[in-house]
Amino acid sequence: MVPFHDLRRRVAAHRPLLDRAFSRVMDSGRFILGESVAELESRFSGAVGRKHGIGVASGTDALKLALEGLGIGPGDEVVTTANTCAPTVTAILECGATPVLADVDEQTLTLDPKSAAAALTPKTRCILPVHLYGQCADMGPILELAKSRGLIIVEDCAQAHGASYRGRPAGSFGDAAAFSFYPTKNLGALGDGGMVVTDDAVLAEKVRLLRQYGYREPNHSVIKGHNSRLDELQAAFLLELLPGLPAANDRRRAIAAAYSLGFAGQELHLPAERPEGKGVFHLYVIRVRNREAFRSRLQDRGVETVIHYPVPIHRQEGLQGHCKVAPGGLPITEKAADEISSLPMFPELADSEVSQVIEAVLDSREPRRPE
Ligand SMILES: *Cc1c(COP(=O)(O)O)cnc(C)c1O
Repeated sequence: MVPFHDLRRRVAAHRPLLDRAFSRVMDSGRFILGESVAELESRFSGAVGRKHGIGVASGTDALKLALEGLGIGPGDEVVTTANTCAPTVTAILECGATPVLADVDEQTLTLDPKSAAAALTPKTRCILPVHLYGQCADMGPILELAKSRGLIIVEDCAQAHGASYRGRPAGSFGDAAAFSFYPTKNLGALGDGGMVVTDDAVLAEKVRLLRQYGYREPNHSVIKGHNSRLDELQAAFLLELLPGLPAANDRRRAIAAAYSLGFAGQELHLPAERPEGKGVFHLYVIRVRNREAFRSRLQDRGVETVIHYPVPIHRQEGLQGHCKVAPGGLPITEKAADEISSLPMFPELADSEVSQVIEAVLDSREPRRPE
C-alpha cells in the first residue's frame, strides 16, 4: 500500500535530532514561551524575509490573531476562497467578521483576482488569499487590487512554507501572513503550532499581547487577549526540522516532476504551475471525471488518495449560513470540487512508490470516450 501520508517516516528520518530537542527542553525546565520559541520566531520569520514572527497555538490562531491585531471585527468583510479548508474561514468568523467567498482560477484553484474584485463592497476591509497546495495565489493583481481600494492583505501560508512568487517568499506580501505547523504541513511539528509573520512592529506587539491574556508584563492585561501560545517542545522540534525544509521541498518537487512526466501525453488534468512562481507541492492534485470510481480503482491497486477539499465552504453545513458568496457564484470551485483528487505526496516517499503510483494512475484512468 502506498499511503497518502506516513508521519512515522518523517520522525524516523529525523529521530536523533528530535530526541535531542526533547531532552534539551526537558532539561531546561521551561515549557512555555522560552528560548526555543524566541529562536524559532527569529529564524522562521527571517527565512520568510519578515522582521517579526510570533509563535501561536495553530495556523487557525495565526490567521485569527493577525486579523484581530489588524483591527478586523464585526461589520467587516474579508474576501477569501471557498476552495480551502474550514480554518481559513473559521478564523475570520472568530474575529466576528464576515467571510465573502470568491471563485478560484481554473488553472491553480487559488483566488481569482477578478472574482475577488467583484466581491468587494463598502464593508470589505481585507483580502485573504490562500496559497493552496503549495502554490502562491496570483499576488501581483491581488496586491494591486488591495492597494487601489485601500485594503489589508493577510496571507494564508499554511500550505506554502518555502513557496515563492516573482522571487519573493510566500508570507512576504501581505500586511501579515499566517503559517501552520500542523504535523502534515511542509514544516510540521509533532503537535499543533502556528506563526504570524509581519514587518509591522505595532502589529507584532499587538499579536504578542493577544496570544497571552493581553499581558505586556506578567499579570497585567493591557488588552483583552487569548491563550494561544506555541509551546517550547514544538518550537524545539521545529528548530531541528527547519534546516531540512529546502531539501524536503526539493524532494516534493522531484516527486511532482516524476508524476507529471509519468502522466505526460495522457488525458489527465495535471496541476498547473504558475510561471511567476515556484511551488512546494504541499499536495499534488489531479482532476478526473468519475472521481469516486477512479479512486476506488486506485485503492484496489494499493494507492491511497484524499480530496482537498470535498465540500467547498459555501456548501458546508456549519459554515454556509455565516458566509457570503461573490456575485456570479463559484462555478469553477464547484466543478473542481467534484473532480479533484490528491495523490500521495510527502518527502519520504520512495522512488519505487512513486513508480507504483504512476502505474496505478495510468491503469485507473477512465476509458477514452468513443469518438
Ligand atoms: C492547515 C491549514 C490551516 C489551519 O492550520 P491549523 O494549524 O490546523 O489550525 C489553515 N489554512 C489552510 C489552507 C490549511 O491547510
